[in-house]
Amino acid sequence: MIVVKESHLSAMRAHGERDYPFECCGLMLGQFVDGRKQVSETYSISNAREEEAKRNRFLIRPEELMRGEKYAQEKGLDVVGFYHSHPDDVAVPSQYDLEHAWPTYSYVVMAVEKGQAADLRSWEMEADRSRFNEEEIETSI
Ligand SMILES: [Zn+2]
Repeated sequence: MIVVKESHLSAMRAHGERDYPFECCGLMLGQFVDGRKQVSETYSISNAREEEAKRNRFLIRPEELMRGEKYAQEKGLDVVGFYHSHPDDVAVPSQYDLEHAWPTYSYVVMAVEKGQAADLRSWEMEADRSRFNEEEIETSI
């Protein structure tokens, strides 16, 4: 389960709308508490792919990820998950997403339809990396 604040959801949705028709991506920073992920901050990072490929895939540059991890560390937080948008597509991870994910983290995928943020869902990878399972999102104030 992942616990997020309403403000985090708004920030992720706004990022997805801002980067439309391209995919946006970012980190969710917080803490692992009793098997749950408690998000205390979102951290937007840019999409590293070429313009024409941005519509379908996302890739975080290693230096961007390191910058985010360093930022988290300075604040005493961990990277607990990643978020990205699917422009004009469903909020379900793609095969590409599965191949580039790691267990333990949360993967928030949000649909952005015609520039408007729509469905937002969170996913966690099966330990044997075979598939994603949907994860419950608990919203706190
Ligand atoms: Zn994706």
